[in-house]
Amino acid sequence: MSNIIVWLRRDLRLQDNPALYYALATGHTVIPVYIYAPDEEAPWQPGSASRCWLHHSLQALDTALRAKQSALLFYKGRSLRILQALIKATQAKAVHWNSLYEPSLLKRDRFIKATLHKSGITVRRFKGALLHEPWAIKNQAGKPYQLFLPFWQACQRFPLERLPLAVPDTFKAPIKWPKSLNLKELNILAHQNSHPKFANIWQPGEAAAWQRLHKWCRGALSEYAKQRDFPYLDGVSRLSPSLHFGELSPRQVLGAAKYALYHLHGHTKGIESYERQLYWREFAYYLLYHYPKMTEQPLDTQFQKFPWRNNSQELLTAWQQGQTGYPLIDAGMRELRATGWMHNRVRMVVASFLTKNCGIPWQEGARWFWDSLVDADLANNTLGWQWVTGCGPDAAPSHRIFNPLLQSSRYDPQGQYLRRWLPEIAHLPIPERHKPWAATPKPNYPAPIIEMSNEITTDFWNKRICSRPVCSRRFIASFSGL
Ligand SMILES: Cc1cc2nc3c(=O)[nH]c(=O)nc-3n(C[C@H](O)[C@H](O)[C@H](O)COP(=O)(O)OP(=O)(O)OC[C@H]3O[C@@H](n4cnc5c(N)ncnc54)[C@H](O)[C@@H]3O)c2cc1C
Repeated sequence: MSNIIVWLRRDLRLQDNPALYYALATGHTVIPVYIYAPDEEAPWQPGSASRCWLHHSLQALDTALRAKQSALLFYKGRSLRILQALIKATQAKAVHWNSLYEPSLLKRDRFIKATLHKSGITVRRFKGALLHEPWAIKNQAGKPYQLFLPFWQACQRFPLERLPLAVPDTFKAPIKWPKSLNLKELNILAHQNSHPKFANIWQPGEAAAWQRLHKWCRGALSEYAKQRDFPYLDGVSRLSPSLHFGELSPRQVLGAAKYALYHLHGHTKGIESYERQLYWREFAYYLLYHYPKMTEQPLDTQFQKFPWRNNSQELLTAWQQGQTGYPLIDAGMRELRATGWMHNRVRMVVASFLTKNCGIPWQEGARWFWDSLVDADLANNTLGWQWVTGCGPDAAPSHRIFNPLLQSSRYDPQGQYLRRWLPEIAHLPIPERHKPWAATPKPNYPAPIIEMSNEITTDFWNKRICSRPVCSRRFIASFSGL
């Protein structure tokens, strides 16, 4: 009987975890390991909100493993060296892991795999984070898709594996556990104070993720298509951190949603809408895999020399602190500070405001989100920012500016979301809550930091990208009415 090391990374779950499942299926002893190596993720080491989630999720996974007579072994440092030392200490013959797709981690994993192979160790890599491997989907010319819809359609031609993989009630433990650190010694929580309310808001870990998924499937899922755009409603799943850390696999989420709609709600209306969002996640990973430089550089090369505003620190700070004087922007940014999360509609509006109204490079916004979001995800965050800026894969949004006033009256008509996050203007009647500068007396709330007519984009898109008249007309129309 020999040992197999299962190197857990962002697959912090027991169920439907192929690396773990196939290790257990061999009948050998399984040693679950977590290595904290943030430097190997540079320049995208986990941000402070993300680290908070990670710490608690690891704790939950260790507890779940202990309930199965196993444990999670914690280490800190260079992954390769630690794996080599563990292999030596345990006489392990194989290492299993589920793939990660971030450029620096892909490179690292390939190197580790080659090095371990050379010393006779079997390395098995599995697909645990995505529905489809990014290299499997190509267009007829054998090239990657750049648009979402044809990508999604192409994915439909590849059937998904049918059953999520279940694990046994108890694991075979090694006769002697190798030495390891305890979770606290990893010091992941160095920035914990930035999210003091974390424990009241979120419950990381696989078990809590399942609770959330069940609640979601029994409740608001059936109204997802109608409610998903309204930030004052509890109309979205909030499963993004669990998907990011792999507490749930996308296959489990999609499977549970389909099952619930059919068996509990008696219809499958709405599944397309939810499935589409899960496929946006797939698309984000797909693009990141094929265009690894997109985390820093715009996919549309016309944007490489974009004349972003100089001396923008004051605007950037006001945006970060939720003090821009535009209620929907400020509500969103304060929700982010207080909870580490923000509704998708509001993410789009605040990103558009930063880039298109303030003229601040999308990379600045992406970095702030990276540090602040509990679901900070390199693929989704990069795609989100490039998409809103209009320099990403889909062409249409480059003409769009999300007008914060129209957005707030359309998606929060009664100002409930604004009231929740902006106590200074909560008392105002609804119309003034959307535009507090029109209220008398003036509330104790900042005046708008920038004129709405001052968009850097008007110049840029009209004179450069949209020099064709038809394009300009479309831009102006979409600015006024999106
Ligand atoms: C500027 C910007 C930055 C973003 N940064 C991130 C990020 O760092 N991490 C992140 O997970 N998402 C990011 N998103 C995408 C989206 O806003 C979140 O996934 C969503 O708000 C999470 O809430 P939910 O789980 O309730 O989503 P639901 O609406 O319930 O959707 C279910 C799942 O589908 C996926 N999904 C939904 N919308 C998108 C989308 N537009 N793109 C990719 N995947 C999607 C998520 O995994 C989500 O959990 C960003 C969007 C924008 C516009």
